[in-house]
Amino acid sequence: MGYSHWEECSNLKMLFNKENVMTQAQAEEVRLSEAEVWELVSSFLLAQNLNQPQVGSMADMLTAAQRDGSLSHGLQRLPGTLDTMAHPCFNKQADPVMQNITPVLTRVDAQYGFSCLAAERGLPSLVSAARNFGVGLLAVNNGFHSTALWPLVERAADSGVVAMSMNPTYGWVVPSGGSRPLLGTNPIAFAWPRPNKRPYVFDFATSAAARADIAMHRNEGQQIPEGWGIDKQGQPTTDPAAVLAGAMLPFGGHKGSAISTMIELLAGPMIGDKSSRQSQLFDSEANAAPCHGELFIAFSPELIAGPEALLEAEAIFNGFDEQNARLPGDRRYKARDASANNGIPVSVALLNRIRSLFPKGGD
Ligand code: NDP
Repeated sequence: MGYSHWEECSNLKMLFNKENVMTQAQAEEVRLSEAEVWELVSSFLLAQNLNQPQVGSMADMLTAAQRDGSLSHGLQRLPGTLDTMAHPCFNKQADPVMQNITPVLTRVDAQYGFSCLAAERGLPSLVSAARNFGVGLLAVNNGFHSTALWPLVERAADSGVVAMSMNPTYGWVVPSGGSRPLLGTNPIAFAWPRPNKRPYVFDFATSAAARADIAMHRNEGQQIPEGWGIDKQGQPTTDPAAVLAGAMLPFGGHKGSAISTMIELLAGPMIGDKSSRQSQLFDSEANAAPCHGELFIAFSPELIAGPEALLEAEAIFNGFDEQNARLPGDRRYKARDASANNGIPVSVALLNRIRSLFPKGGD
């Protein structure tokens, strides 16, 4: 009798049964608890012999994204971790080591494992530098794929500091006015703490759309909006496959192109790590997620300006509410509350795909 790791785990067995019932009822999605999603991610990665600290960190990130409806960086990312872990330099046993370079600068070497564990380990130093000196810097080096950036800047803001993070990716994006891909999709996230409220957080790629979003459109047979990319011949197209084979465009023309370049510089050469161009060469067609550095910057507005900084910030946020302009982060927080009340929606097709990728055991 063959068995799989999936079937060995009683919680996942329960999940499988639930999914089975839902499939029979022709449902497209099931609702899982946060613990069930976490268990699914961690069992999948443990079955690949990833060490426990990296498993825990990745499970936290992917579960948070699925829970908050940030689907491009939720469970859909799990199958792709197989390609990343198959990169010849990927280190399944990475145990990131922290180095305090100056009182405000911490460096963590991710040792060619997943980036998020190294970033999590450096976060307390970042926060404490900002609290004690007004500013803190955290350089994470040699990590594969930072996942979505918002979970860690939100966590820093929950500790009372302003936080930003950014990283290069692969050279997929044409600089404004150019014709060949050079820049990464280079995401940037920012979080501002709010008294008695969840932080103000934004987090997006500096390409017109995240690459995962374009891939999702391709997988679902949908066209993409104009302005997201060009084909191999440099012509504008709404065909996601043609853009994935061609090049992506930065958001906001020359402005997005310049911000993306800033991210390349700050989170690449400035922290002694790869640019998007170098990261792509490093991949060498392994089809892994990008290996890169990540820069975190944190500030203490209260130390720099005093408590009035937070008061004026509230006046600005209230100005949004007064005109019904939505704050970034609000949709995510609503999705988080809905997940807590009704369970986290997960597509049955994705669950089936993940289950099929669990390693098969012996007889
Ligand atoms: P989006 O273009 O979807 O923008 C997301 C951000 O904008 C969120 O903060 C969102 O808030 C906010 N937002 C969206 N619509 C509105 C609106 N109408 N009014 C106000 N705020 C709005 O993000 P991307 O597709 O560019 O990126 C998605 C994710 O991909 C990010 O988490 C990013 O970190 C990740 N990514 C990671 C990469 C990596 O190398 N690790 C590379 C590229 C992207 P809300 O969440 O509340 O909707």
